[in-house]
Amino acid sequence: MAFRSGTGPAAQGPEATAAQDEAAHDTTTVEHGAFSHARCGCGWRGPARRSRDRARSDATAHRGTV
Ligand SMILES: [Zn+2]
Repeated sequence: MAFRSGTGPAAQGPEATAAQDEAAHDTTTVEHGAFSHARCGCGWRGPARRSRDRARSDATAHRGTV
């Protein structure tokens, strides 16, 4: 077995693990049976709506208020 001894120092830069305050509000609408609700990447979840339009407006409202 040819072993190649690479001389690469494990370059580990100082990783900034600072939690970002501004979470990406990536909203999506999830259909669940007859209902659908809005979901956001920040963990927010909208109430179950009968119409997807409502769920979407919920998402819009969520993004608008935050
Ligand atoms: Zn959000």
